[in-house]
Amino acid sequence: MSEPLASEGGEGCLRCGACCFSNLATYVPVRGDDYARLGERAEELVFFTDNRAYLVMHGGHCAALAITTDEDGARFTCLVYATRPATCRELHRGSPACEGEIAEKGARPRRAHDALVALRVRSPRDDKDPT
Ligand code: SF4
Ligand code: SF4
Repeated sequence: MSEPLASEGGEGCLRCGACCFSNLATYVPVRGDDYARLGERAEELVFFTDNRAYLVMHGGHCAALAITTDEDGARFTCLVYATRPATCRELHRGSPACEGEIAEKGARPRRAHDALVALRVRSPRDDKDPT
């Protein structure tokens, strides 16, 4: 996920989120300087395996991605945008890599959003034993 979009006059990444999705547990590498930049968030967002560090993935996307809804629909926000790892910083919106992410995973964010909405609108009564 690259530039914040409002500054570019569009919604861009905030309406996309594709590059923050993966089914790989080891999707976003975290190097030493990345870890330091994450500060107090590092402990909750980073895990170690085989002497390497990665961002925690949850529900098919990075754990630092917030999926919400506003008046324009689904919104995908990086909660550590200012301190995100180098891998995320190096992916520029509109680049061939970005286009590849969208081609491969562009449908996943919307599906994840719609699943969350379905959970939110579900009435608590649905969980009650009808007897
Ligand atoms: S895939 Fe491209 S447009 Fe989508 S969030 Fe990532 S950088 Fe932004
Ligand atoms: S740190 Fe931010 S930009 Fe990078 S994968 Fe996670 S949510 Fe996306």
